[in-house]
Amino acid sequence: MKLRVLKNVCIREARKDANTGVNVLTLSDGTTIEVDAVVAAAGVEPRCDWLDEVAAPRSKSDGGILVDACMRTVGPYGDSIFAVGDACTMSARASNPETPWFQMRLWSQAAQTGAFAAKVAVGVCDADALGFNFEIFTHVTRFFGLKVILLGLYNAQKLDDVPANEVTTYQRESLADATYVRVLLVRGRMMGAVLVGDTDLEETFENLILDGVDLSRFGPSLLDPELDLEDYFD
Ligand SMILES: Cc1cc2nc3c(=O)[nH]c(=O)nc-3n(C[C@H](O)[C@H](O)[C@H](O)COP(=O)(O)OP(=O)(O)OC[C@H]3O[C@@H](n4cnc5c(N)ncnc54)[C@H](O)[C@@H]3O)c2cc1C
Repeated sequence: MKLRVLKNVCIREARKDANTGVNVLTLSDGTTIEVDAVVAAAGVEPRCDWLDEVAAPRSKSDGGILVDACMRTVGPYGDSIFAVGDACTMSARASNPETPWFQMRLWSQAAQTGAFAAKVAVGVCDADALGFNFEIFTHVTRFFGLKVILLGLYNAQKLDDVPANEVTTYQRESLADATYVRVLLVRGRMMGAVLVGDTDLEETFENLILDGVDLSRFGPSLLDPELDLEDYFD
């Protein structure tokens, strides 16, 4: 099977050729291609054109409504206009290079920011309370029936300024139990991880990322299934 990546196109029609039995797609640019399987990826963009930009200034990078650490807009009506979920851009939270958290427009972050903003609005929360929602990026989903867990700066997000020789990644995969593990370390400290399948490593790795434990001495054996990391660090 050959992999082909197509950007900025939509599938207009999908059909099976009656004679050959091959799957045929017609794309939005008018071309037709034969495929075995399709993996479709769609992004999310803030849609807030209706809101006055003076009242709620926007981020230059993605057009979202800029908010402070408490989800208040940064314009003149900050105390009364909050923005959450896909509509907002959380530069104040995401810009801290020390924190393995970044904004990704997801259901979980929409729910967390909404709940946080509501509590700030009624005066029962401030910038520090509920901050644990923004200490580490986490996302759990399923691909092809397998559990997928993304932790921290799993894809080197926010690490552009870190010299490449200070970044290490280790990975292990096992077809036998359908698992894949990849970790990313900066100067020996775990910053992110990708866990596919039932690895049972999520809690330990989350703690390792949050605690900033120096793991240099383990090298690649960090991912050795025989090594019981929980015993070392819990
Ligand atoms: C194809 C796709 C797949 C996705 N898959 C995942 C996934 O697997 N996991 C995951 O975590 N996230 C996923 N997301 C992202 C997730 O859907 C969003 O991050 C989340 O829904 C954001 O919630 P929200 O409440 O901020 O915005 P929305 O869910 O978009 O809700 C905004 C609501 O406001 C309404 N609205 C808009 N303008 C106005 C107006 N002027 N007046 C009144 N109402 C208005 C809209 O109709 C909508 O109901 C996916 C997104 C897409 C597009």
